[in-house]
Formats: sequence, structure tokens, C-alpha cells
Amino acid sequence: MGIPIAGQLEKILPNVHRLCAANPGPMTGPGTNTYIYGNSELAVFDPGPALAEHVSNILAAQDTLSAPITHIFASHTHQDHSPAVAELVEHLPDAKVLGIPAAPGQQFEDHSFKPQIVPHDDQVFELDAGLVRAIYTPGHVSNHLCFFLEEHRFLTTGDHLMNGSTVVIIPPKGSMKDYIESLRKLQNYPIEVMGPGHGDVINNPAEVVEWTIQHRLVREAKVVAALETHAGLTIQNLVPKVYDDVDEALHGIAAMSLHAHLIKLQIEQRADETETGWRLLTTV
Ligand SMILES: [Zn+2]
Repeated sequence: MGIPIAGQLEKILPNVHRLCAANPGPMTGPGTNTYIYGNSELAVFDPGPALAEHVSNILAAQDTLSAPITHIFASHTHQDHSPAVAELVEHLPDAKVLGIPAAPGQQFEDHSFKPQIVPHDDQVFELDAGLVRAIYTPGHVSNHLCFFLEEHRFLTTGDHLMNGSTVVIIPPKGSMKDYIESLRKLQNYPIEVMGPGHGDVINNPAEVVEWTIQHRLVREAKVVAALETHAGLTIQNLVPKVYDDVDEALHGIAAMSLHAHLIKLQIEQRADETETGWRLLTTV
């Protein structure tokens, strides 16, 4: 396909189009990808940030594709994925909004996202252009969904998988244990193509999912190895040991992922935190 180009409606499969928002950055890659699916009625996946131009581009797709938008899905409620929903709904009062709202009081979440339908795991929606299955995929955040367009075996991944950048897991909303389990869960579906929230289309989903799981487990093994030789390390002291292959400028973000790894080890009763730092628990 190629790297998404902001503002261009690009056809990626029959009945599936991609429209990239103009919000490029270190965490968003070329920008947030909005996917538009359908023939005589359109479903929009991840309308993106509250950028007026992007909202008008989404609305204009109705003219280009000669069909009205009837459904709006959001993968999660980060500021680069769902805020455009509220603006779209002002223009599309009859459209149905689907997704999981942010928990009350959570910082940095989009609280303007108010879905009429909160899909349960594996719920299938019959749309004009085909079946859409909601797959609950906590990990990046706890209210994350992927959507599987069964007709094309196409999965919109939101931020569960990206192309070109690493998914950040920030506790407590993010969970490394959930993230790895949600990746394994995807292996149960016959996915052929993935449309990530950021970056180009993924044409080898099985390999990418397996690679991502292994990549996280390799990092986890580095955490364990570091604690084996230096018990009682704080996160600040662990980061340069565990992320010695990562640019120091990214060590602040790495510290958050490291915390997520440590919490996973704690839940699995393989490590715990003492007053002086983290240590491994001896296994029998
Ligand atoms: Zn995102």
C-alpha cells in the first residue's frame, strides 16, 4: 500500500478505504488512520483527533463514495482516536456510535466519547457491507477493541498493533500481561490483513503478531536477567540495563513499559517491589 498520506482517501480493499489525519508525531507515526468500510452505507472506524479538517474529510467521503455514514466505531478513547466522534455526530445525528467509554475521572482520556452501544467481546454486528466482529483487546489500555471485517478478513487494530512504531503500555490503564494475552487471542481469528491505527497496512498479520509477542518476551527476559544480577534495582536504575539497545531520548517512555513488565512479573508472582527496589522471587 504505502505510507498513509494525510487527507487522502485511499482504497485499500474493495469497500475499505483509509483516510489519514494530519497529526504526525513520534507516538502517532504518519498520523491516525481512519478506516471507512461499506457500499451503500458506511461505517467509520477510529474517526481520530478533533481536527476540523479531518472531520470534514470524513464527511466528504460520503459524497466521494456516494453513501451515508451510519455507524461510527472507536477502538479506544485516547485523544488521537475518538475525539472526532463527538464532532461527527453533530453532523450525523442518526449514526450509531459503538465502543467502550473511558472510565470516569481518568486523565488524558476523551470523555466526550459517548457510545450508544458498548460491544461485548466477540459480538458481531451485521452492517450493510458485511459482518463486523468486536474483539476485546485490553493491554494498550483497558477499554480497547479491535474490529474484524469478516468479509475481507481485515482487522482494524487501533493501537493494539502499529506499523513502524512500538505500542506503549502505561500502567495502570495499560497492562503488559493483558497485552500479550490479547495478542495471543488474535491468533484464533483468520486475519489476512491488518489496518493499524498508525502506519501502513500489515499484510503478514500472523508473523507480526508472533514477532510482537516474542519481542515483548525477549524484553521481559532482559528484565529478569537484570534483576538476577542486581537485586533491589529501581526502575530508573533498571532502564539503562534493560533498554541498552534503545536511544536514551526514549528512556522516559521505556520506563513506563518497564513498569508494565514488572507489574506482569508481580502478578505472576515472579518478582516483587521492596522499599529499595524490585527483586525476583525464588521459584521452586
Ligand atoms: Zn493512537
